[in-house]
Amino acid sequence: MEDCLFCMIAEGKIPSKKLYEDEQVVAFYDINPQAKVHFLVVPKKHIVSAAALTEEDGALLGHIFAVIAKLAAEQGLNNGYRVISNVGEDAGQTVKHLHFHVLGGEKLPV
Ligand code: ADP
Repeated sequence: MEDCLFCMIAEGKIPSKKLYEDEQVVAFYDINPQAKVHFLVVPKKHIVSAAALTEEDGALLGHIFAVIAKLAAEQGLNNGYRVISNVGEDAGQTVKHLHFHVLGGEKLPV
């Protein structure tokens, strides 16, 4: 989608510090990290937020969470990590393209 920051990152039109990429997803470090390790896992398909997911996205979601687990292990997050997806204005979603924050590498505030 034009004018979508994460579509442009997925297409390589805007640079990012990529950790992983395949046909369905891209993962890159957050530009403004909120923990020692903070990366984003993003479907290449433009989906506005988790609120726009349908049953048909089930396989994609399974894949996203398998990628998250693999990357978390690679990043050494063996003691746990947090996965967050903000939906809409009240949650503070600023980029209107579904993404999963993965935070860890330290004891996170509860
Ligand atoms: P919030 O900005 O409140 O965290 P989101 O859940 O929409 O809202 O998260 C967007 C995330 O994307 C933010 O953590 C932000 O730091 C990150 N971000 C914005 N631009 C870039 C970029 N060019 N490269 C990497 N991360 C980015």
